[in-house]
Amino acid sequence: MKITEYIAALRENINEAREQGKTVVLIPTMGFLHYGHLAMAEDARKQDEDHEKIYIIMSIFINPLQFGPNEDLDKYPRNLVRDSRLAHEAGVDMLFVPSVEEMYPYGESLTTVNVSKITDILCGAYRTGHFQGVATVVSKLFNIVLPDAAYFGQKDYQQFIVIQQMVKDLNIPVKLIAYPTVRESDGLAMSSRNSYLSPEQRKQAPVLYRSLLDGASMIASGENRPEVVRERIIQRISTESEGKIEYVEVRKANDLSLVQRVNCTVVIALAVHFGSTRLIDNIIVEAQKDVEKHDEIKDS
Ligand code: AMP
Repeated sequence: MKITEYIAALRENINEAREQGKTVVLIPTMGFLHYGHLAMAEDARKQDEDHEKIYIIMSIFINPLQFGPNEDLDKYPRNLVRDSRLAHEAGVDMLFVPSVEEMYPYGESLTTVNVSKITDILCGAYRTGHFQGVATVVSKLFNIVLPDAAYFGQKDYQQFIVIQQMVKDLNIPVKLIAYPTVRESDGLAMSSRNSYLSPEQRKQAPVLYRSLLDGASMIASGENRPEVVRERIIQRISTESEGKIEYVEVRKANDLSLVQRVNCTVVIALAVHFGSTRLIDNIIVEAQKDVEKHDEIKDS
């Protein structure tokens, strides 16, 4: 595995890979790698264990643009030595670890990418400017790497929808792959930020996924009122943990619009603070078919 912090060196290697007829796959991350990141590299590598057809680039860049002034930019965990070893073991061909100066050589970028509306809700309502930072750095990475395909985790569901919209709106020729959320054995979604949790908070945090599963099974048993599902989740998190709920919402999975009734595939998404650590999670739930029919009859 090669490592570089320079765009020019990265491009040289990518050009070589392309000349050899390889497909270029990008996995953007902020590092402090866990199996949620590595599973995406392994998934890409599985299709070409001999490194003959697919060239996997993983980027590690803690993008200042996507952090608010009171967020954890300075204390975000880093460990490049460990990350390099793990990325190599997962089959990554090239690790791109640019400095802030390499990515933003003119200081503040005058050009930014702004996806409207779907960035004003859920996490975007609480993290002003976050998705503009994400969309800007992801489009820079797409322009630097020109990947054929790029992996993003479903764990950051809104992020995936925002990038999908950006790719459609700007005709970016990249295939997006949404990778299912990788969880610890007790259900907690893997995240670099889990390392901030105290032992007691870590013990409580799996309530997030348990409550999402609760919501999903309510829908599976025919509950179609989003506010009832939402209330159950809020109640469970509040009674079983000291987590402070930022939001719990049930929205249409494909465009994040609000639903009056759960009669389509929805995402139940939440953000909860454990002390100063903000955790997010979500689950995708298909509506009950007979509920759908019932509503169609009622609506017509
Ligand atoms: P991050 O380093 O947190 O910015 O994440 C980099 C990429 O990995 C994003 O596309 C995330 O959605 C994805 N990711 C992070 N955690 C997980 C997880 N537990 N399961 C699957 N993908 C994840």
